[in-house]
Amino acid sequence: MFRLSEEHIAFRESIRSFAEARVAPHAEQADRDAAFPEQSFEALREAGFAGVPYPGRVGGDDADPIAQGILLEELARVCASTSLLVIASKLGAIPIIEWGSEELAQEVLPGLAAGDYVMSYCLSEAGAGSDVASMSTRAVRDGSDYVISGAKMWITNAGRSAWYTVFAKTDPDAAHRGISAFVVPADAPGLSIGKLESKMGMKGSPTGEVLFDDVRVPKERLIGEEGRGFYYALGTLDRSRPNIGAQAVGIAQGAIDAASSYVDERRQFDQRIVDFQAIQFMIADAVMNIEAARGLVYSALSEVMVKGPRMTELGAMAKCFAADVAMAVTTDAVQMLGGYGYTTDFPVERMMRDAKLCQIYEGTNQVQRGVVARQYLAGRGIKT
Ligand SMILES: Cc1cc2nc3c(=O)[nH]c(=O)nc-3n(C[C@H](O)[C@H](O)[C@H](O)COP(=O)(O)OP(=O)(O)OC[C@H]3O[C@@H](n4cnc5c(N)ncnc54)[C@H](O)[C@@H]3O)c2cc1C
Repeated sequence: MFRLSEEHIAFRESIRSFAEARVAPHAEQADRDAAFPEQSFEALREAGFAGVPYPGRVGGDDADPIAQGILLEELARVCASTSLLVIASKLGAIPIIEWGSEELAQEVLPGLAAGDYVMSYCLSEAGAGSDVASMSTRAVRDGSDYVISGAKMWITNAGRSAWYTVFAKTDPDAAHRGISAFVVPADAPGLSIGKLESKMGMKGSPTGEVLFDDVRVPKERLIGEEGRGFYYALGTLDRSRPNIGAQAVGIAQGAIDAASSYVDERRQFDQRIVDFQAIQFMIADAVMNIEAARGLVYSALSEVMVKGPRMTELGAMAKCFAADVAMAVTTDAVQMLGGYGYTTDFPVERMMRDAKLCQIYEGTNQVQRGVVARQYLAGRGIKT
């Protein structure tokens, strides 16, 4: 069995007490008001946890990917929107950490590690979701600048971010090889925020359009090499999908913990409903599946730690499996609370709505299944 180190176990305990005391109390309101969880974000900064996802060279904690996953899992257990603000910032930062210049890293990342601001990852467009290579945002070289024009959609932290990592075509004739990545400050002239989405769940996390109207960026804000943006985009998702898996595991754990307290209290037919075998079987299925998902997530995070050859495959598996588990467990948690589960008086309906997003973003679960199948078949020399 995969066993966490003593340090990881102690870290989980400290994050859990922090999350229960400082994040959980604001979760319901963030969902009800569809408002960024400012108090939880501030609490992360104050408690010194904002630096967990970032390297020491930019003021972060140099925590390994498993510790980062534990942070996300424990935040998601009480408030998935808070875990998402951390995930989305890291998503925007990964291309800079992995492929950006040191100057760019020192300009953008210390503020993230200090918890001063969040950032965004702008890949998707209205017409380019699963098929990101069909994006139409353009970046045209003009002297020592690039000029970006286009519209990004579904961008997490839109309107709240200090920086936007943006993918745009520098060579539209070169298909996916013509994409490049840039970092753009929120106050760049020509950058504006369009429609903010009204969503089913993760309501505390803003999602919206980021519009670029001839936004001029100096060439120093190109990440890595021109034309390598598609590779960076996919490499970033390989490193981030286990984080979505960790988020999904946290949501599922939060739901089954809430449901198990309820079934212990609730009485029908003159007995606690926890004594019905039908309820116990739902609990057993939930905890077995959560444990299996957690094991897969930690395997994927371990692969990210060593940048191993199975990063793509394990990341897709962890994200897909954990998201499906979160959806099934939260649905059963609602069922265990009966009619009360269907009301906003209990957190399980919020968790069920939040879980749904895990099956959709960072590549839908259908797309992940395609990745998993292709990786396996390629290993057996079978082309698809
Ligand atoms: C709340 C939210 C936050 C998001 N945050 C961000 C963000 O911060 N940055 C960002 O860049 N994007 C973000 N996204 C975008 C997200 O990654 C896309 O929505 C997702 O990749 C799916 O793209 P799509 O919505 O265009 O769906 P489509 O690609 O149109 O898919 C529609 C359906 O077709 C299926 N499908 C499509 N292609 C295939 C295929 N090849 N094989 C099998 N089935 C297929 C899909 O599985 C799905 O069921 C976010 C989305 C949401 C909803």
